[in-house]
Amino acid sequence: MSNEPLKVVLPKSHKRNLQIKSRLAAPAPVQDLVNHGGQVLRKVEVTTVFLGTQWNQAPFAKMRDYFNAFFDAYLASDLLGKLSIYGVQNGSRVGTLTTNDVLAGTTLDNTLQAIVTRLTSPGGGIVADANSLLVLYPPQGVIIDGTAINVGKTCVDHCGYHEHVGAVAYAVVPYLECAGCLGDTGLSTRDAMTSVASHELCESMTDPMLDGWFTATGEEIGDLCAWNDTSVGTYTVQKEWINGSGCS
Ligand SMILES: [Zn+2]
Repeated sequence: MSNEPLKVVLPKSHKRNLQIKSRLAAPAPVQDLVNHGGQVLRKVEVTTVFLGTQWNQAPFAKMRDYFNAFFDAYLASDLLGKLSIYGVQNGSRVGTLTTNDVLAGTTLDNTLQAIVTRLTSPGGGIVADANSLLVLYPPQGVIIDGTAINVGKTCVDHCGYHEHVGAVAYAVVPYLECAGCLGDTGLSTRDAMTSVASHELCESMTDPMLDGWFTATGEEIGDLCAWNDTSVGTYTVQKEWINGSGCS
């Protein structure tokens, strides 16, 4: 097994769930998240980045508005406030961009990293600081291949992931339509995407550089409660692991 934290939302059928299955067969003591000493996003500043002009068109433009409103509600919520035990507090969405990038078919994570670098360079539109998080939304139909950063491919190996380029943290929420990424209950695309966004947001806050909070076996805050959903207002979000109280 890799030594790095599990920075993905796994599809329900994924074989890496073997680790979870073996735990079910022989229950082990619950392991809390451990602080590995790396930085956290103390008061996260989210910029949503919608990749490609498809997001300006129906029905995607309404989804874009929905996802922005979701972040506004979730970032201010009492639920997110529970993460204070990890040294982070409620944050805010500081902006949104829709780019002209043309993505189609299978797109390498490397392409997304180049976009993050472009957007956070001088004049690029986003002034990044130690609290910044870019949340990237590829257009419908695009599969992200993150093999080079050990997250594999959308729908096969992940339903979302987070990483960093240099000091800039980013998360990716692919357009989810495959069954393995709609959760146990068969969520709508929209609800699966807010669930995954909540998972990756909380992991980015507590482990942005992959050296922060995770268990001895590499699970981050969202992984221990993956697809265990609740709601904030009308938005579907995932529960997160709170040391001492479990999925909350
Ligand atoms: Zn995760």
